[in-house]
Amino acid sequence: MILVTGGSGLVGQHLKDVLPDAVYISSKDYNLLDYKQVKVMMDDYNPNVVIHLAARVGGLMDNMTYPVDYLEENIIMNTNVLKSCHEFGVEKVIGILSTCIYPDKVDTYPMTEKDLFNGPPTPTNFSYGFAKRTMAAHIDSYVKQYDKKWCYLIPCNLYGEYDKYEEHHSHFVSALIKKIYEADDKIELWGDGTPLRQFMYGGDLARVIKYFIDNDVVGNYNVAPDWVHTIDEIAKIGKKACMKDKIVVTYDNDKPNGQHRKDVDSSQLLKILKDFNFTTLEDGIKKVYKKYKEII
Ligand code: NAP
Repeated sequence: MILVTGGSGLVGQHLKDVLPDAVYISSKDYNLLDYKQVKVMMDDYNPNVVIHLAARVGGLMDNMTYPVDYLEENIIMNTNVLKSCHEFGVEKVIGILSTCIYPDKVDTYPMTEKDLFNGPPTPTNFSYGFAKRTMAAHIDSYVKQYDKKWCYLIPCNLYGEYDKYEEHHSHFVSALIKKIYEADDKIELWGDGTPLRQFMYGGDLARVIKYFIDNDVVGNYNVAPDWVHTIDEIAKIGKKACMKDKIVVTYDNDKPNGQHRKDVDSSQLLKILKDFNFTTLEDGIKKVYKKYKEII
């Protein structure tokens, strides 16, 4: 039996499309910050596989405003889930990290899995970065001490039909789609448009997780398409995908750029995933824009 924490989130909803028979848990079912509730959840389902997606996740400003909450909530949730998985003898655990937790700067890009601890995370999500790194160390420790078949994936920034569009929470591509939809002739973006970003369609990560389950793959891998674009290029791709090419993009240089680049190399993963194709940014944005127009 497969149990998925964070089942109501962006990744969880995409996973439901490809793994419909798993059990999907949200904070309304059990509060993972409370160990007693986590134990009740494990007792209720007795899973042999846990896909741990739940996290305190948010945009740049939210991370900068609430660093304590990001640190504590993620460390407590992850610790509770992993401890209970051990206590209940869960055979397979897949934890989800993020490329946001990689060092602020390294000598060579794209970064490989070996770079994860080679320097502090970027100041704008320092707490989130350390909390997620702690989960990597925690899973590695269970593997070393108890010989578990547990692992983690490190996906790049995501977007998808199930993203949220509130100001404080939304991720860049979703916020861009909303701005393009609402704009008559121009949109303004934060920073100067030069940071480099990799963005992956949420459904692609869901397909990778399904592959790991179906083929009993165990290992810690980056998950990202092999392209990287500046924010300005992504804005242009977004305008084209939404068929609003004429919109003018301006930049608010008083707002932070965030980390300059954090692109990662997924070649180790692609050695395992035979014939896997990532959704192009343009195709992904087209899908999300279509859905956004339906739900708005
Ligand atoms: P999301 O949309 O923000 O969803 C978060 C999920 O965690 C929701 O299901 C939420 O439940 C649950 N959750 C939060 N606090 C909880 C608590 N105290 N108890 C129980 N459940 C709780 O996140 P996502 O974008 O799907 O991200 C999934 C995973 O991928 C996370 O680990 C994230 O760090 C990682 N990731 C995300 C991105 C990205 O760009 N989105 C990129 C890389 C990695 P409710 O709905 O009930 O609140």
